[in-house]
Amino acid sequence: MNDTDRPEPLSHGLYIVATPIGNLGDITLRAKETLARCDAVACEDTRVTAKLLRHLEISKPLWRYDDHAGEKDRARLLDAMRSQAVVLVSDAGTPLISDPGYRLVSEARAEGIPVTSLPGPSAPIMALTLSGLPSDRFLFAGFLPNKDKARRDVLEELASVRTTLVFFETAPRLGKSLEAIGEVLPGREVAVARELTKLYEECRAGSPEELARHYEANPPRGEIVLLIGPPVAEEASEADADALLREALTTMKASQAAGQVSKLTGLDRKVLYARAMELRGE
Ligand code: SAM
Repeated sequence: MNDTDRPEPLSHGLYIVATPIGNLGDITLRAKETLARCDAVACEDTRVTAKLLRHLEISKPLWRYDDHAGEKDRARLLDAMRSQAVVLVSDAGTPLISDPGYRLVSEARAEGIPVTSLPGPSAPIMALTLSGLPSDRFLFAGFLPNKDKARRDVLEELASVRTTLVFFETAPRLGKSLEAIGEVLPGREVAVARELTKLYEECRAGSPEELARHYEANPPRGEIVLLIGPPVAEEASEADADALLREALTTMKASQAAGQVSKLTGLDRKVLYARAMELRGE
């Protein structure tokens, strides 16, 4: 390689780079360019990242930065970032999302080191977009705990949250989690997103009981994101509907009142119309 082929070096700082969650074709153009131009790559498992870099035909020093990294490892990385461009990747997906990096970013920012993040694949976001569950609001809660009591406690804590819930899950624990969801959050729709972007990608939705039966008969393999739909709006009681109809009837005809209250409550328009006529006759 001569000097004109060598990529321009990057300015110093921390570059958080998302990498594929299975399909190597999902690396972004910016991720590839940044990996080619950086000085070093901090990663969880050097063998995993070496494989990605080989695929991209890039060779860089790899520095281990995993869950066991301590103050000293961090201090060494921060020191390097003062004069060099250091990329942070995880084994797959977006760093910091149930992966190492939070302390590194927080300390780099506190020390005035430039930090930027290159967005890309992330399993919880892909799962949410595939699941068919409401995506306007969601709560991502990492891995459900391993122990039965702790798992139920987390589900109980989140029971009143009116958003889709997104968790990481493992194949051996899926059955127990589905069982707990059926007991603690009955009536919720659930989705299991498995092996995303890979050959056997699937996203299966249903009740926790249906999914538990399916996966008991077909033990799941691979990586999993588990999603739980929000609580369904409680049906308005007859008394609520009557109150709303009475109020609506003060300014509109029975048919219009029935239409408006139907929209508000989800109750059947014809039933509401009949009730509005009764109320008018009272
Ligand atoms: N930071 C990563 C991200 O942004 O996707 C997630 C890292 S977390 C330690 C690993 C978990 O993500 C797996 O146990 C699994 O629950 C989920 N996951 C990762 N890749 C996946 C895939 N291809 N399909 C389904 N779930 C996946």
